[in-house]
Amino acid sequence: MWQEASHTVTGEGVPLALLLLVASLLGLAVGSFLNVVIYRVPRRMSIVRPRSHCPHCGTPLRWRDNIPLLSFLLLKGRCRACRQPISWLYPAVEAGTALMFALLAWEHGWSWAFVPDAVFVSMLLALAVIDARHRLLPDAITYPGFVLAVGLRALVPPEKILEAHHLVFRSESTRFLSDHALGVGAVLILGSSLLLFLLERMDYRLLGRRLEELEASHANGGRSSAPSPIREECPLAESGPTPEPCERIADAHAGDEGRQEPWSPEWAALLLAIGLSGVFIALGREDASLAASGARSALGALVGATIGSGVLWLSRVGYYVLRHLEGVGFGDVKMMLMVGAFLGWGGAFMTIFLASLLGSIYGVTLMLLTRERNPKLPFGSFLSLAALVILLSFR
Ligand SMILES: [Zn+2]
Repeated sequence: MWQEASHTVTGEGVPLALLLLVASLLGLAVGSFLNVVIYRVPRRMSIVRPRSHCPHCGTPLRWRDNIPLLSFLLLKGRCRACRQPISWLYPAVEAGTALMFALLAWEHGWSWAFVPDAVFVSMLLALAVIDARHRLLPDAITYPGFVLAVGLRALVPPEKILEAHHLVFRSESTRFLSDHALGVGAVLILGSSLLLFLLERMDYRLLGRRLEELEASHANGGRSSAPSPIREECPLAESGPTPEPCERIADAHAGDEGRQEPWSPEWAALLLAIGLSGVFIALGREDASLAASGARSALGALVGATIGSGVLWLSRVGYYVLRHLEGVGFGDVKMMLMVGAFLGWGGAFMTIFLASLLGSIYGVTLMLLTRERNPKLPFGSFLSLAALVILLSFR
């Protein structure tokens, strides 16, 4: 069964228009969920409870006001209860997800290969918007995202990556890998969550602690009083007609009692890894060729993740050593784990290159227009954009 997985499952007989329609509708539904994630995850709110409500007046949304895209058009972009404008970002995310899903379906046909790409695209879209709005890449997305990337690459090995691996692994190590594929694959998926733990601890020991001290000394010894830079230009504030007070969001970041995260991202990633390796073992037992190709694919994903995040992490270290600044955020490094796992090491390199290029162009333009010396750019948003381009253009 697994040999066919990467080919079209039921290609003939089903018109392309129907495929695109189904994919777009699925994209709208997923986009609607992403809006919930984009709003709630940076605020450390549960994504399940309470029900969706208007951010201005708090009125819970009825089902007919919660239909993706359509409700926004019918309500003419205003809340039914208080008539305050609804952000255009909501329909934009829904339409964007639908468009991306349609493009993926067009490329893959009725195939399992659609699933990992759709998951990847969804997480990239959420991260892009959250980073643009809050200068934040939540662990709650990047941690499970990375584990999911390795697991999905093992369960649905991409054809191109497989071909490349066949060329590379023709030696003794290949034979070992195919003989023990089931165990190797499961260990690799589990190992992805351990890699997260390791990276987190290592970064904190080498850099994070020092950066925190640096920040604290700036806050105490600096000429300006501490609260003013936050008030002036709060990166966390909503860009709406009635901006949310920054202190409230900052409180949520500090872990306010009522808004505490219901689960820790590390443990979620570990549980997810255990579940995914269980599925891999169950499916791989039935089909030895799936186990072999899946183990290779998972190895490729881990190599891509290590190289992709390694490049960014080294530039983060370099920045600190040379300029005593946090030039590259740790969130970007963790995001590249996920991107590298999905796109492989080549795709990870191209993503970083393209994102740096796009970020530089944007930054220089911004500096010329606003005369601001050091604009803080949402590098994660550029990484997302670049990864989407690489995903769609290099196959
Ligand atoms: Zn309202």
